[in-house]
This record gives sequence, C-alpha cells and structure tokens, in this order.
Amino acid sequence: MVTDPAARVVKSRPESREATELRALRVQHPDLEAAVDLHLELLELQRRIQGRVPLPWLEVTPDVLTRHQADAKPVLRFEDIPLDISDFRLMVRQTADVLRRYGTIEEGDYQRIQTLGRDMTLLEVTARWYRSAVEKQVAVLSVPGAAAFTEAGDDVVDEVIALAMRPFLSRCAEVLQQRPELSLWTHSHCALCGGEPELACITPSAERHLICGRCGLRWKWETLACPYCRNSNRAQITSFATSDGHYRVYACDVCHRYLKAYDGRHSSRPVMPVVDAVATLPLDAAAIQRGYSA
Ligand SMILES: [Zn+2]
Ligand SMILES: [Zn+2]
Repeated sequence: MVTDPAARVVKSRPESREATELRALRVQHPDLEAAVDLHLELLELQRRIQGRVPLPWLEVTPDVLTRHQADAKPVLRFEDIPLDISDFRLMVRQTADVLRRYGTIEEGDYQRIQTLGRDMTLLEVTARWYRSAVEKQVAVLSVPGAAAFTEAGDDVVDEVIALAMRPFLSRCAEVLQQRPELSLWTHSHCALCGGEPELACITPSAERHLICGRCGLRWKWETLACPYCRNSNRAQITSFATSDGHYRVYACDVCHRYLKAYDGRHSSRPVMPVVDAVATLPLDAAAIQRGYSA
C-alpha cells in the first residue's frame, strides 16, 4: 500500500483578516493572550456555520424603513432569521465548550447550557432573548432615564445565545448594510435587530458610526451623545483617547455607561469589532475603575 502524503493535507481556507489581526495583537500584547485565543476559537466556530447560512429575504424599501423609523421598531423579526435549528444547537453547545475551556463559565452554567442546547425550549428562550432588546429600547424611549433599567435575565445564557446567534444575525445584517435606505434610521439602537451598540467607529470624515453588539450592523449617529440614555449635554460626557490615538471612550455622567470607539482617522485598517473588543480590554478596566459600566 502506498500512502501519498499530499493526499492527507487538508485543504484549509485562508485565515480571516480578523484572525490575522488577533494573532498580531497577541504578539504585541502577551497579557491579552488568553482573550485572543478564546476569540480565535469563537471566530472559527462562527465562520464554519456562517458559510452555510443563506441570506434572508428582507423587505427593505424607503416606505418600510420610514415606517420602522417612526415606530423605532427594527426591521428583522425573529421568524425571518434563517435559523437552521441543528446548526444553532451545535453553535450553542460548542460555544459553551469553548467558554468552559477558557474558564469563562462555571461548571453548573455549562451543564445548564448543554441541556438547553438539546432542549425543546431553546427556540423559545432565544426568541425571548431576541425580542427583549426591542422591549428595552421602547422602555428607554418612553421613560426618560430608563437606561438604568436592566431586565433580570439569565446573563450567562444570554451571553452564550448572543455568541451562538452571531453567524445567523450577521448574515442578515449584510443585507441591510448595503441598502441606502439605512440612512433613514436615526435611532441609537440597531435598525435590524434592535440590539444596543457595543462599539463605535469614527470615520476619516469625523462621523461617528455605531456598531450593533448582536448583528454587527453599522449606522451613522450623533458624534457625541450617549446612545444608551440620549444625553447630549457636552458637560456631562467625558471623552478621552488612548495614548496611541487608536481608540476613544465616551463616558456618560447621566447613566454612567460608556461606549468605546475605534478612531479610523488615525488608523490604517478598518474597524474590526472582535479584534477591537479584545484590544480595548485595558480600556474597559480603566472606564470601570472610573465608575462607569459597559
Ligand atoms: Zn443588530
Ligand atoms: Zn447615558
């Protein structure tokens, strides 16, 4: 029997740009090694599934966007997400595996999530998680100062669901991202899924774009105001940049939350939410130390 060594070489896809940047970050900042490795594994999981997710059919016209804008209601309904249930179950369980391996979740939570991953209620729990973001936004819009209100949800389960939903939601975001109608949206929550912005980027022309923490959609918003409570009083927003000028923090002295931004005016690459989230972990620590929360 002759074995051809070449036949055993598994053809691998080229590494994503994010993965390359994450590896570079690990070299520059060895202290971020564990966080980099964790996110490299999560990226690989998501990438494998994302390649199989079809683009959803979304009705995006100026009329539709204008109507959703008026009601502050996001465009994508849970039912319209192209969610393959067995792929989703796999994502939930494998995401929990990765988080456990890096010690980010406790054994009890891990077991609970594994059970949920096989359980009939998974879709129901996920739908509730998906819709809760919209309900929260409506509460913030109708009750001034309601930004401090947070639902007593199951944080660990929510975190795993959010990670497991990424490949599906980011495919949906691709559709809306390309549409000029997106410019009709002026709210600080996501036009697609209703999620909160988790990061921002400053464009070379000094516009600020918010980036949804759930689906990754980006949209233009006010340059200074707090997206969590809409405070726009300059005197009540503390803004500071990192010494290398790559990042900026906007901290709100009304709701005490903060938003980080990647400053594209001083950078050679585009914003990459996963990479930038890891790169700014020290910045999170600094903001939290000053009494702000994410
Ligand atoms: Zn979103
Ligand atoms: Zn605020």
